[in-house]
Amino acid sequence: MIASTNVTDRYGRRIDYLRISLTDMCNLRCVYCMPEDMRFRPSEDLLQDDEVLHLVRLFAEMGFRKFRLTGGEPLIRENVTGIVEGIVRTPGVEAVALTTNGVLLKHLSRPLQKAGLQRVNVSIDTLDPLRFRKMTRWGNLEDVLAGLDAARQAGLGIKINAVVVRNYNDRADVVDLARLTIENPWQVRFIEVMPFGSVADFQRSHIVSESELRQTISEALGPLTLLDDGRLDGEACMYRIEGAKGSLGFISSVTKPFCAACNRARLTPDGKLRLCLLKDRELDVLSLLRTGVSDRTIQASISEAIWHKPWGHELARDDFPRHRVMSEIGG
Ligand code: SAM
Ligand code: SF4
Repeated sequence: MIASTNVTDRYGRRIDYLRISLTDMCNLRCVYCMPEDMRFRPSEDLLQDDEVLHLVRLFAEMGFRKFRLTGGEPLIRENVTGIVEGIVRTPGVEAVALTTNGVLLKHLSRPLQKAGLQRVNVSIDTLDPLRFRKMTRWGNLEDVLAGLDAARQAGLGIKINAVVVRNYNDRADVVDLARLTIENPWQVRFIEVMPFGSVADFQRSHIVSESELRQTISEALGPLTLLDDGRLDGEACMYRIEGAKGSLGFISSVTKPFCAACNRARLTPDGKLRLCLLKDRELDVLSLLRTGVSDRTIQASISEAIWHKPWGHELARDDFPRHRVMSEIGG
């Protein structure tokens, strides 16, 4: 076992947050995420349950403290609650969260909370049922709202993620979502759409900037106050509507990159370690694991990859990831 408890990259950033994608599959087909005829990997190519937990142990020994399960849709993974429980019990792990489209939360909130899950980020791009269907191609908003309610009743911490897409949900929908924070102690986060692989043209032509969003919201709901002197909460810049119980977060990876504060690494569903969401370079950790090399060797390779974590993305130079779409990486 490696005794060191800090993994830093060559720029001095401490990397201690791992996002694990449990599957590339999904029960929705959001227009900004994947093509409608998306093809998925065979399950034997994916990290198996014991492999996920083995890697979590190695990362926790190296000083990783926060873990998030994502996908694709993590709740369609069989035994997701068992995986959560295994991660929670791993020595060194301090926080376990999950990002979901919420469709299956109605039934899974309570078991997940019992397994030790602390927080869920639920993706809801609009509160309008028809526009929700249009954005997810076949989703039913009622399922997600029922899931959100179940998460609240189970006592899970809740954040809401909305990706804003020009001409789909950039006006009244954004205001309706922001209004939720007036009565609920939630963080509603607006995410700028990022370009990936075969969907990049659509994504780049439908982006809405943070400044435009803030203007739309403040015209409807009053001035927004910047919180924490502009310090980021994770990747989000935080604001509050006057008198609101919750807050608004803006994740503007394209127009206001937060690369200097990035503390994260990602495991793709097929077991590749990816150090920047928006760069294609990866380390094939699953193959290392399956060839049976020692834990020490795997940890040394991970440390080396982290040391070379890219400084940040280069979307401004039209350098965007071409080999995978978002659901194949883990958002
Ligand atoms: N299926 C789950 C969900 O939708 O929450 C988890 C996986 S999804 C890929 C994770 C997050 O990435 C979601 O909040 C989703 O809205 C966001 N996302 C997907 N495609 C994106 C894109 N092109 N740009 C920015 N965010 C994106
Ligand atoms: Fe599925 Fe999430 Fe991608 Fe939507 S954003 S298609 S719910 S993985």
